[in-house]
Amino acid sequence: MPSTLDPDLRRALAERIRYYHELGIYDFYWRGNLRSAPAVDPQPESRDQMPARKSIAAAVTTEENIFEVLTPKPEHNVADPVAGLQLIREDLGDCTRCKLHKQGRKQIVFGVGNPRADLMFVGEGPGADEDMQGEPFVGRAGHLLNNMIKAMGIRREDVYIANVVKCRPPGNRTPERDECETCSPFLMRQITVIKPKVVVALGAVAAKNLLAMNAPMSELRGRFYDFMPTGARSSDPSWQGAKLAVTYHPAFLLRDPRQKGEAWKDLQMVMKFLGLKPLLKTE
Ligand code: SF4
Repeated sequence: MPSTLDPDLRRALAERIRYYHELGIYDFYWRGNLRSAPAVDPQPESRDQMPARKSIAAAVTTEENIFEVLTPKPEHNVADPVAGLQLIREDLGDCTRCKLHKQGRKQIVFGVGNPRADLMFVGEGPGADEDMQGEPFVGRAGHLLNNMIKAMGIRREDVYIANVVKCRPPGNRTPERDECETCSPFLMRQITVIKPKVVVALGAVAAKNLLAMNAPMSELRGRFYDFMPTGARSSDPSWQGAKLAVTYHPAFLLRDPRQKGEAWKDLQMVMKFLGLKPLLKTE
């Protein structure tokens, strides 16, 4: 895709593709020269004004990353999720795509777990322990997440765990919008390769980035969303997308343990959908 594309046309095209994604249309093909194509009407609705959608959810597709999302990916024709994840990791490389690469990260925290998992957990970004060990959710919050997973009657090795951004934000600050928008296409590709039945967004940052919805946790929790990652092929007969649920981030639950009961309700909803039986109660 030429980087010299007229900015207005580029913006209009990105808006139109985002609009199609909201309708559940993900597959596009190239016909002819874009420069000779007719102008595209921009859609009036901006993402900041986007109302909460009831059933169709797709990750944020911005003007800046839309062409990245639409570019054919090396894993697209690979059926084995282990090989697919490996190809995504190789594509990520020693990533310098956003400013987090030069703000003190020790390493990229790609993701961990079962490449064929029915259940995926997505947090916002690595903390100090994760940055040190190269694995998501290994500190105190990770310990609590492990207990939550155990309480669902499964093991950490059974699920896949990743974050919206793969490098530690300095001082554990919230990842900024441009960082999330630059990094999240790799998360979308991971989800597309793993093809989980359920994705659980841990906390507001993960939820808002996955759902492209700006709403408080009280509105985001308590229901399933139909989720198809941006860039995934809706025509893939082996996967029609995942259910997405939102619950509190374990780090928040450590600060406010009174909310553990609410988080447990969210997980019970997921367990019911997946047919899981609880073994233990959360700590
Ligand atoms: S956060 Fe993601 S996009 Fe930014 S440098 Fe790290 S891997 Fe690259």
